[in-house]
Amino acid sequence: MDELKFKIKKLETFTKSYVSVVRLTMEDDTYGWGQMSTYCADITAQIFHRQVAPHVLGKSFTDFNDPENLILEREHKYPGSYVLRAIAGLDTALWDWLGRYKGLPVTTLIGGSPGKLRAYGSSMKRDITPEQEAKRLLKLRDQFGFDAFKFRIGAECGRGMDEWEGRTESMIQMLPKALGSNVIKLVDANSCYSSDQAIQIGKLLEDNGITHFEEPCPYWLPDETKKVTDALKIDVTGGEQDCDFRVWKDMITRGVVNVTQPDVMYMGGLTRTLEVAKMANDAKMICTPHAANLSLVTMCTMHFLNAIPNAGPYLELSIEGKDYYPWQEDLFLGDPFKVSDGHVTITDEPGWGINFNPVWLEKANYKCVEI
Ligand SMILES: [Mg+2]
Repeated sequence: MDELKFKIKKLETFTKSYVSVVRLTMEDDTYGWGQMSTYCADITAQIFHRQVAPHVLGKSFTDFNDPENLILEREHKYPGSYVLRAIAGLDTALWDWLGRYKGLPVTTLIGGSPGKLRAYGSSMKRDITPEQEAKRLLKLRDQFGFDAFKFRIGAECGRGMDEWEGRTESMIQMLPKALGSNVIKLVDANSCYSSDQAIQIGKLLEDNGITHFEEPCPYWLPDETKKVTDALKIDVTGGEQDCDFRVWKDMITRGVVNVTQPDVMYMGGLTRTLEVAKMANDAKMICTPHAANLSLVTMCTMHFLNAIPNAGPYLELSIEGKDYYPWQEDLFLGDPFKVSDGHVTITDEPGWGINFNPVWLEKANYKCVEI
């Protein structure tokens, strides 16, 4: 990016309660589209206009770290999720702008190339019986050719409890049998267990051919997670909530998990997520990001995975639709996450290669700041 020098002229946001979209315009009228992190997006958009936009509007920069670090310095009393969720909107719009400016997809800008990418089908549901889950995963396997799936065990931040008694054990025993040995099986406990409990569950996972145990213990207790990682042969994975480089440094240098799972949006965008991938790569760890819905986070993760040297074997692709995540409907034109043979496709369109749906944008709450 050495030759770059840019000045942001205008920042527009299109906000609904779950999603806020950003359009960034430079002083030469070139533009890019991005998105802030999902959920409580109406609050995040306020942060964007109060604590992000004022620091970068009308100023000149030569790379993307510079404006983002400046925001974090100016807002150093507000470390944590919300400011980074808002910065994700700026960062992803900057990358889209650069892609459009150079006529290249983002993946190419960061050393990758467009094309196919293997995906695993990721279930978000816990209010589903093992029988129902097996039935729908098999249907998706046959319809779209997925050869890997993740399903949920325990209760989310469940203090060791299950959704209902016996559900987790049934899931662990029934799903692998139903899916067969040609399908890779992953589970996510979403911070449910103590280390003792997680090690017990982990042995059951090992006995049933499940190879990925995500967020076994409360993510804010890394010493608990590390006990599980050290005790089990299968991969213990995590990091989706973590957005502070100090936490990542600790997690990676101490080997708290086997596989790093940053979320591009929670991290504050692609720029900072690339930094996590590099830290992991230096420690010879792979990176299989968290991408749990079909908003821009999944497209950013696709471009990211096709570029980094330590990419995990697949993209997380949510299998939930209108019944579960109605808010993600009609956000984009076309079908950017179309799956065939278990793969999604990163096109050679510039930037993120997506178009937000004008009808969706029209119905959103609009705000604009300009110099
Ligand atoms: Mg997870």
